Amino acid sequence: MAVASTFAKRSRAGRGVRERSGAAQAAQIQLTGVTKRFATPSGSLFTAVRDVDMTIEPGKFCAVVGPSGCGKSTTLTMVSGLDRPSVGTVSVGGKPVDGITAGTSFMFQSDALLPWKTVLDNVALGPVFRGVPKKEAQAQAREWVRRVHLVGFENHHPHQLSGGMRKRVSLAAALINEPSILLMDEPFGALDVQTKAMMSNELLALWEQTRPTVIFVTHDLEEAIALADQVVVMTVGPGTVKDIYDIDLPRPRGAVQEIRFDPRFLELHHHIWESLREEVERAYARTAKPASANGGQS
Ligand code: ADP
Ligand code: MG
Repeated sequence: MAVASTFAKRSRAGRGVRERSGAAQAAQIQLTGVTKRFATPSGSLFTAVRDVDMTIEPGKFCAVVGPSGCGKSTTLTMVSGLDRPSVGTVSVGGKPVDGITAGTSFMFQSDALLPWKTVLDNVALGPVFRGVPKKEAQAQAREWVRRVHLVGFENHHPHQLSGGMRKRVSLAAALINEPSILLMDEPFGALDVQTKAMMSNELLALWEQTRPTVIFVTHDLEEAIALADQVVVMTVGPGTVKDIYDIDLPRPRGAVQEIRFDPRFLELHHHIWESLREEVERAYARTAKPASANGGQS
């Protein structure tokens, strides 16, 4: 693993106390020497990720970028406890992950909302599952519906909402659980550009209030830099950590549409893109070859 450059080192100095406050319940995430292999139908083993070392400090926002198929989702799945590494250790809050990781909320590209339940009931699901009495769960849900600007839509069903509104419901349903870690797998990937920017702003504003530790997977480098404290670039599959960049843009970040014109943003983007571009080009070269020529790796 390479830890990138003066860019990263420069930004480590002088982090404020403000950044740590509110992160008391956030947990550290650590992957050490993590390799994941899957059995193929032919009986051989396919290596999806290899030797991944990554540490995300409590309350930090980490974005992971890398070409399609490099193992980003596989990595998140192991942090959530839904799957195990073949080699190496994943720990959350200093404890090895064993079973579903407690205090985790997951947000995917597709909406994980229950179509037959209203907005309010979808948001209230987490507390209800934890045994919070229904009235209290609904009161909490109302507050989260307010925070994601959906007042008036409490009794709508998911199919009556736009894609952006459904994302807000998913975000409220994730954050109502006050997770110590929030895992997001290309959550805004299916949204149009403007809606995605609005959702990014909302995510940042809400995250800054509650500060769980976040891993946010995206293929959009601009989105990664605008949101994160730390951007991890993964290599083409079998994916491993190529570079880690600290993003020293001040917080609160404000509108993501504007921060991308900041000279520091452009400098970081230029630098990180150099690293990511090589991997994207390698991935592209593989898919441009006949399947038999790429060693069976997708
Ligand atoms: P990414 O999210 O970076 O696009 P994934 O983590 O989804 O990549 O997948 C990495 C590689 O592992 C891909 O080649 C994918 O086909 C393979 N893979 C993922 N999950 C499984 C599985 N359960 N069984 C077999 N292969 C898998
Ligand atoms: Mg994926």
